[in-house]
Amino acid sequence: MKIYKLPAEYSNPAILFDMDNTLYTHDEYAKTQIDLPVKRLAQLKGKTFEQMNDEVSQYRKKWAEDHGGQTVSLSNALLAFGVSMEENIRWRDELFRPEDYLAPDNQLRCVLKVLESRFCLAVVTNNTVSVAVRTLSVLGVHGLLEKIVGLDTVKLSKPDKIHFLKAAELCGTPVQQCISVGDRYDIDIALPLEMGMGGILVDNVEDVYKLPDLFASGNVI
Ligand SMILES: [Mg+2]
Repeated sequence: MKIYKLPAEYSNPAILFDMDNTLYTHDEYAKTQIDLPVKRLAQLKGKTFEQMNDEVSQYRKKWAEDHGGQTVSLSNALLAFGVSMEENIRWRDELFRPEDYLAPDNQLRCVLKVLESRFCLAVVTNNTVSVAVRTLSVLGVHGLLEKIVGLDTVKLSKPDKIHFLKAAELCGTPVQQCISVGDRYDIDIALPLEMGMGGILVDNVEDVYKLPDLFASGNVI
């Protein structure tokens, strides 16, 4: 975990969680979320998965080189291969199967219960709202995370200010009292910091389990 910045004031605070690889850690499921859209694209283009995967990987590598080592989201990379955001949204809803990989996470539920007593909790994800609801339901935490800003809410992929502004608005929280928590600095943390939010980079869901202690030590909860 790396804490980049925390709010100076906590009168009406919010935590904006990234979902994938933040609220759960499952390498195999995470891999399907890259491989399945690329496989679909390969079918459309009449290429093998290996050829398509190589082309998309090369594109993302070159993009990173051209942008000071930053990461481009898969959705934004697919745009460059002619996959519209609308199509991408349909693919995700159809292809992703959180039910096949994830299971209820009681520890996460307990942690979110503690945090919700002090923070408005929201999810800001590059997945669709429907996949988010299914994922959070499988984890057993949907009742605690009902404010969701997804790819189809704004028809744009993170990072874009609109996702974080929308989530702050859903919580009725000023941006200065929002904390973005996610596993990818370029996608989840850099822009919120620029916007005046707090930011915590996590390595996995185990780091999310530590948040109540972190805020308790700062006398926030
Ligand atoms: Mg993530």
